[in-house]
Amino acid sequence: MSTSSEDLPTYEDIVAASKTIAGVAHHTPLATSRILDTKLGVRVFLKCENLQRMGAFKIRGGYNAISHYMKDDSFDFKGVLTYSSGNHAQAIALSGGLLNVNTTIIMPKDAPPLKVEATKSYGGSVIFYDRYTENRDEVAIKVKKTLPDGTVFIPPYDHKYVIAGQGTCGKEIFEDLQHWKGTYNDAQTEEAIALDYLFVCVGGGGLIAGISLAAAAISPNTKIIGVEPEAGNDAQQSMAAGKIITIETPRTIADGAQTQHLGNLVFPIMQKHVSKIVTVTDEELIEDMKFFGQTMKMIVEPTGCLGLAGLRKMVASGEVPKGSNCGVLISGGNVDLERYCKLISSGSG
Ligand SMILES: *Cc1c(COP(=O)(O)O)cnc(C)c1O
Repeated sequence: MSTSSEDLPTYEDIVAASKTIAGVAHHTPLATSRILDTKLGVRVFLKCENLQRMGAFKIRGGYNAISHYMKDDSFDFKGVLTYSSGNHAQAIALSGGLLNVNTTIIMPKDAPPLKVEATKSYGGSVIFYDRYTENRDEVAIKVKKTLPDGTVFIPPYDHKYVIAGQGTCGKEIFEDLQHWKGTYNDAQTEEAIALDYLFVCVGGGGLIAGISLAAAAISPNTKIIGVEPEAGNDAQQSMAAGKIITIETPRTIADGAQTQHLGNLVFPIMQKHVSKIVTVTDEELIEDMKFFGQTMKMIVEPTGCLGLAGLRKMVASGEVPKGSNCGVLISGGNVDLERYCKLISSGSG
């Protein structure tokens, strides 16, 4: 499906996006945990996009993309159509509400109810489809015919201005670490910190593509590691094959990463700037949901736990040496409380 923005984003687009979203999206904090650092033997900085407005980083890309079309005089912009399993839907609905733009969102009928309700409450019109039997691109083409001319399709990840928007959260991480003030091993520290690794969850790849572009410009020695669910390792397969591999919709609790393939814009950026992709199991995600809740007093959705689970795995395997500085992206916190309780009371520990 055409997006009318098919050239690759650059770091300059991320800088511009930062200005566009300033005062709309939160500049989220970097959190640390002595317990975690001691346990892993590395120094960890957690970027808390679970504390982002509407509960996930997606507001960055959604708001940036809609703002882009509002500034475009070449056509009569009439509204936005998109599809999403949840957080991009909310981001588009909320951004549309803030910018006074009509939004129509195609959602899987088994999307988490909290995400569906939130999308409606922000003013988005929701249309349901069956993600296991219907092709959402085909559904989108059908729905678009019913909407006014001048309606633009903004996909969840494969879009220049979505990627640039998501990249702003990488820019914030590296900039905040350039003059880091915090407590480490009970001592107040004020120093520049260079990340050796940054762990980022991968769904369609918009987030990691944007962050890896920011890293390449600001912190080129940082290795960007993608983390995806074991049940859906299409990114790992694609990087190994050198081409985009499509898989069946994976069955995993990480609903933000139930994508079937990476995006065409995202993939070349990942090939250039992402060092490695690791996979983790649903059980490992649950362990980290418990850690975030118990130790850090944060509700993190399953997909948001991918980054930390990936870091744990590479520390355990010895691939991340002791003493490394590691960034972890916590991508979101949108999970129904009932589902959250069920998940954290399942499994061991
Ligand atoms: C969308 C989303 C992801 C995946 O982002 P992509 O840009 O599709 O790779 C991860 N976590 C959360 C919470 C999300 O909403």
